[in-house]
Amino acid sequence: MERVLSEGIIYKISKYADNSAIASAYTYGYGRIKLFMPKAYSSKGGVQTFIPGEIDFLKKDTSELNKFYNFRPDTTYMEYASIPAISLRLSLYFDIFDKFYELEQSDTVIWTILKKYKTSDYSKINLFSIYALMKNTGYMFNFNVCSSCGAKILEQGALNNGLYFCHKCAPENSFFTESYVNTILRAFSNQELYKNIKMNKYDELSVLDLFAYHIENVTGSFLKSYKLFKELIITI
Ligand SMILES: [Zn+2]
Repeated sequence: MERVLSEGIIYKISKYADNSAIASAYTYGYGRIKLFMPKAYSSKGGVQTFIPGEIDFLKKDTSELNKFYNFRPDTTYMEYASIPAISLRLSLYFDIFDKFYELEQSDTVIWTILKKYKTSDYSKINLFSIYALMKNTGYMFNFNVCSSCGAKILEQGALNNGLYFCHKCAPENSFFTESYVNTILRAFSNQELYKNIKMNKYDELSVLDLFAYHIENVTGSFLKSYKLFKELIITI
C-alpha cells in the first residue's frame, strides 16, 4: 500500500451510501482504476468529472478499490466540463473505455490524445481517440484491404463480424459505409491526410455509426451512451 499522485481524469461517480461514492478514473500511471470516496458530497461541492488533473489516492495491493484522498483539476482544462461539445464526447469515450480496458491496464497514449480537445477540432479528436482505443486493445478492424479478395478499398466498404469487405465481396447483412467514411478511416494511419482532412459533425456521426456497430458486435452489449450522444450532439 502506498499513497500516490497520478495525472488522470475521473469519469464516473456512483453514490454508494450516505456521503460516500465509488468513482471510476483513467490515470496516466495506473490505467483504469476504481476509487472509494468516503466523503464524495461535501458542502464545498463534489469532485469534478471530465477534467484532467492530479488524483491523490492510496493504492491498495489487496483490493480493487483504492482510497481516494483528493483531486486537483488542472485549471487550464476547466472548459472540458463546461463546454458540452467536449463533455458529451468524453462521456461517450469513457463509456467505451470502460468496456475495453481491464483494471490497471496501462495506456499512456490516451492522456496525450485527450489533452488535444484544447485545439477545438472536436469531431476529429473524438474519432481518433476511439480509433486509437480499439487499435491499442487489438479490436480495430483492418479497413485498408478487402478481407476476401484483398483489393484496396477506396470507395464503399462494408463491415461484417469484425471483417471489412469491398462492396463486391460484402455479405448481404453487412454494415455498408459511404466513401467519405473510408477516407476518414485512412486518415488515421496517414499523418499528412489526418492533418489536412476536414470533417463536420455529420461526417463524425457517419464514422461513429460504424464504430458503434463494431463495438456492439465485439462486446456483445448495446452501446446505450451512443444513442444519447447522437440525440444531444446535433442540438448543440
Ligand atoms: Zn473484395
